[in-house]
Amino acid sequence: MAFVLLPDGRSLDVPEGATAMDVAKLISPSLAKKAVAPLAKRPFAALAKKAVAAEVDGRLVDLTAPVPSGAKVRIVTWDDPEGLEVLRHTTAHVLAQALLRLYPGTKLAVGAATEDGFFYDVEPPTPLSAEDLPRIEEEMRRIVAEDLPIRRREVSREEAEAIFRERGETYKLELLRDIPEGETISVYEQGEFVDLCRGPHLPSTGRLKAFKLLSVSGAYFRGDPKNPMLTRIAGTAFPTEEELKRHLKRLEEMRERDHRKLGRELKYFTFSPEVGQGLPLWLPNGATVRRIVERYIVDKELERGYLHVYTPVLANTELYKISGHWDHYHENMYPPMVIDHEELVLRPMNCPHHMMIYKSETRSYRDLPLRIAELGMMFRYEASGALTGLHRVRGMTLNDAHIFVTPEQIEEEIRGVIELILEVYRDFGIKDYWFRLSLRDPADKESFVDNDAMWEIAEAHLRRALDSLGIPYREAVGEAAFYGPKLDVQVQTATGKDETLSTVQVDFYLPERFALEYVGPDGAPHRPVVIHRGVVGTMERFVAFLLEYTKGAMPLWLAPIQVAVLTLTDAEIPYAREVDDRLRRAGFRTKLDVRNEKLGYKIREAEVEKIPYILVVGKKEAETGTVAVRRRGRVDEGVHALDAFLERLKAEVAARGGS
Ligand code: ATP
Ligand code: ZN
Ligand code: ZN
Repeated sequence: MAFVLLPDGRSLDVPEGATAMDVAKLISPSLAKKAVAPLAKRPFAALAKKAVAAEVDGRLVDLTAPVPSGAKVRIVTWDDPEGLEVLRHTTAHVLAQALLRLYPGTKLAVGAATEDGFFYDVEPPTPLSAEDLPRIEEEMRRIVAEDLPIRRREVSREEAEAIFRERGETYKLELLRDIPEGETISVYEQGEFVDLCRGPHLPSTGRLKAFKLLSVSGAYFRGDPKNPMLTRIAGTAFPTEEELKRHLKRLEEMRERDHRKLGRELKYFTFSPEVGQGLPLWLPNGATVRRIVERYIVDKELERGYLHVYTPVLANTELYKISGHWDHYHENMYPPMVIDHEELVLRPMNCPHHMMIYKSETRSYRDLPLRIAELGMMFRYEASGALTGLHRVRGMTLNDAHIFVTPEQIEEEIRGVIELILEVYRDFGIKDYWFRLSLRDPADKESFVDNDAMWEIAEAHLRRALDSLGIPYREAVGEAAFYGPKLDVQVQTATGKDETLSTVQVDFYLPERFALEYVGPDGAPHRPVVIHRGVVGTMERFVAFLLEYTKGAMPLWLAPIQVAVLTLTDAEIPYAREVDDRLRRAGFRTKLDVRNEKLGYKIREAEVEKIPYILVVGKKEAETGTVAVRRRGRVDEGVHALDAFLERLKAEVAARGGS
């Protein structure tokens, strides 16, 4: 007999040469219940059924792999994140097999599991489109029904080369060349299909149940635009039909919430190839929301002692050589243009301009904290594949500020910014967000300034400010700015991606580069510290976020049109004009609809435009100076005196909030 050690340290006797699957089956119900802590909650029958792989001495292996005596074994089920990944990776192989059966000559590149599904990048002999997906899926189901055993084979480099050369798999040969000398090379086979793969995989194709293909798109081989463009087929897979259904429903809801769709339907913004990629045109509705956000945040900042400035979107490249952007941020910048012997670039950040504002006069410690703010427009080169509606653009306006402080003032000032962020989020009704402490990757000397002491101090300040406010946060290595760590406030977009909305950054570097000084109480020059911060972030990303967060139904204070006034018949036109006039003079944004159309039609249109209030005026309302009120979402609120309604609107706007 041999034995293995279970996660809780107990040993289990197993026959010589037992596989991981045998171990899963041998873990008795009582043992699972009593002892094996991570397994305790699961019924025994489910364990063997749900098993997808095993961790043997810390290494993930196939269930069919023999387990050496004395090894530490953990059975990985599809409820574990690694287990779900194995399930999806196996689905990707079945997809590739189906493609080869349906479209002989297809070349396989890379296939993998992703956070919420899987994909395979291939080069098909003829172009594929979304219309081909049902047919491919059908073939995949056939492969599942065949229940083909999945076998791992470790092969020599020569053997692997022979396999893929014979199959004309040129991309696989290239991937094979990337595997370092001395590393184990394995292939996985199921039926006639073979793939170069590290594994692990499910023991047979019959184990797959719930999957769906979702999209066909373009993807460069290895993500490099210099390589050929391949076809990416993506889908998702779950252990059960029920989970798959739930996921697909969520995807559908996300599509409904996508700001690109809402922005088009509600006429917030548009793009045109004549203007350029990633350069949004704000239409009147979007511009109205943006203007409200801008006025709101500027007023808030003025209240808190910020000083607003205007600076140009261009600057001499020299400025960015001083700031270090030229060295560390070059690839995100537009190329320079030359005029009158000056070499100019579009600014990718506003900081250097603000440094020059600081330097425009002698500063004393009494002037600090000095909070220089601007709705600053900037331009960044973002890869065309990354551009996403207003979420990620190339020309954007940041609600930016640079706070110049003494070292003693850093923490207090960071706390002030965090409090401002929280206040703003409350006003906008934003509830789903999390704090991320973005740190450098110490190994990456290219993207981050090399000065360990500086990074550590800046990081400590951010942590202390967060801790003193009792705010939980997650850490992210490699997400810092090149000059220092950041505290980012993250939100989720409708496509399920995390994006940064607000950001606070501590910077000892730029003050050094610009040789900033203030005169201390001792009469001697000292170096200030800079806090960079964006509260609503860029107008582009913030409005995109608001669209998705509210599903386009902006709260009253933000809605591009707040009240629609509709007539029942032509007889009420004069009174309707009067109502509309009163509203507009009281500062509300209105739409007057006196068209000779059916009332139901006019109401529907206003509902589609997501106007918060619809007022209907008929004969009775005209005679009594009242309005019939309908709240967005088809709630009939009855007849009200116009004056009373106006007061109510004012109160609702003053309260702000989400929708
Ligand atoms: P990201 O990591 O999202 O690319 P970043 O870390 O480069 O952003 P910062 O320099 O901190 O961004 O920019 C400040 C703010 O500008 C971010 O918090 C974010 O709200 C916004 N922002 C950054 N890039 C874009 C973009 N391409 N389109 C719209 N908004 C952006
Ligand atoms: Zn694989
Ligand atoms: Zn800055």
